Amino acid sequence: MPESSTVHVDVVIIGGGIQGLFLLNSVLGIDPTQGRKFSAVLLNRGPLAGEQTAHSHAYIHYGHMFRDPERIALARRGAQKWEEWFDDNSDTGSRVTSYFGFEDKQTARKVSQGWGDRPDWVTRGSDPVLSRLDGKWQCLAKVSSFCLHAPQVAARLLTGLEEFTSSVEAATVLGYDSQGVRVAAEHSDGERLTLHASALVLCAGRGNEQLIDSIGGWAGTEICQSPPAYMLLVSGEDDILPVLNGYFYPAAFVVTRSVEGKNRWLLSDRLRPSQKPFGGGYVDPGLSGWARQAVAHVFEILPELSSRPDRVEWCVYRADKAEGWHEAGRLPDRLSVEKHPTANIWAAFPNLFTLAPETTAEILKQITFPGTAWPGSCPGGWLRFLRPLAVSPEASETANLLTWQGFCSEHPVVRERFPSAGQQRA
Ligand SMILES: Cc1cc2nc3c(=O)[nH]c(=O)nc-3n(C[C@H](O)[C@H](O)[C@H](O)COP(=O)(O)OP(=O)(O)OC[C@H]3O[C@@H](n4cnc5c(N)ncnc54)[C@H](O)[C@@H]3O)c2cc1C
Repeated sequence: MPESSTVHVDVVIIGGGIQGLFLLNSVLGIDPTQGRKFSAVLLNRGPLAGEQTAHSHAYIHYGHMFRDPERIALARRGAQKWEEWFDDNSDTGSRVTSYFGFEDKQTARKVSQGWGDRPDWVTRGSDPVLSRLDGKWQCLAKVSSFCLHAPQVAARLLTGLEEFTSSVEAATVLGYDSQGVRVAAEHSDGERLTLHASALVLCAGRGNEQLIDSIGGWAGTEICQSPPAYMLLVSGEDDILPVLNGYFYPAAFVVTRSVEGKNRWLLSDRLRPSQKPFGGGYVDPGLSGWARQAVAHVFEILPELSSRPDRVEWCVYRADKAEGWHEAGRLPDRLSVEKHPTANIWAAFPNLFTLAPETTAEILKQITFPGTAWPGSCPGGWLRFLRPLAVSPEASETANLLTWQGFCSEHPVVRERFPSAGQQRA
């Protein structure tokens, strides 16, 4: 018979991606009123920070990717908060020079007018990396941005807080009453702990939908998952694949990381901006169209690569996305915190890594901390139910990683089109 015990906690967080970790860190950091700290427990299944967060470029910009003034302002606020955090944790990422390339002056003017700061226009010849780019980008703007490394950020946020986390097979919401919310933490060995929480925050990414459904859904809230995102990773030596970050309209969004002495370009499915954000034709059900485009875009940016495709390795991530999307009535990239109409339950859909601090601030503004005893009673002691979580960069970085070979066998049309690009990643 599985064991079951109940304890009382102020805040239970389900989900250990960037949002859950940022929130845990903030809740436990709140200045104690009434002489005590708030109690919080984070429950996560699978590798910590292993889902969307692991696949994120974690590219933090100041609204340059958006056109809508509201979204630009939101991204700027998010970026400024990360900047403050980054000042104290500068080993978790780097400030990068980032370029926005435009084929003509008219597009350049149109896109850049909402940026707020006057862009710094540069010429290809002025920079050894830029001079290697295909000549089609007539206008190049240099903007400030930074790239975080998601597993390192997750590990930093968790440092010293491991004892407030638990690795679970699954967390389920059992129900709520005027006293709070009951959450079951089911462990792989069959032990089961019931947590009685004053407040529950769902940060389960793609898992949010199921958790919300399990308590009967929320009136007026339409939760929707956007289609999976695919990310192409191209890895090579510095001389063939330079450090390059930015958006080369309308071809590709590139972020570079250095991994094991090689540069790794990350290109996501934001390859063909269309009228409909995230709903463009590039997320096609058969994927082959997207992959074909992605490979073609790499060659387009760096034409010299097409004569030496054997000098790079290719692989692909598949990431299930949890953002609400426009067809469900909710725009991506908006701050998204949903509160249950009557219970002390919140759901966070940060939509962007950039927005995790903003979303956290919003939840903390709304949440009520009625205060419970910590730790609650549990015959035999309840700490044994906690199985501290750890970030494994390796596990999270390789989650849903397909080698080029595996990818091509699923989508043979890609190999047919680019036979020489199929190098298997070591
Ligand atoms: C390809 C790609 C590139 C991106 N690039 C950028 C970028 O450059 N800049 C940017 O700002 N944003 C970017 N994003 C968006 C950003 O990564 C996400 O918005 C963010 O990581 C979402 O974090 P999260 O914590 O909400 O979700 P997740 O990271 O998905 O975390 C949810 C966690 O909940 C756990 N969970 C689920 N169900 C349960 C359950 N029942 N019980 C216990 N645990 C559960 C999961 O195991 C997981 O660990 C990108 C996203 C993708 C996919």
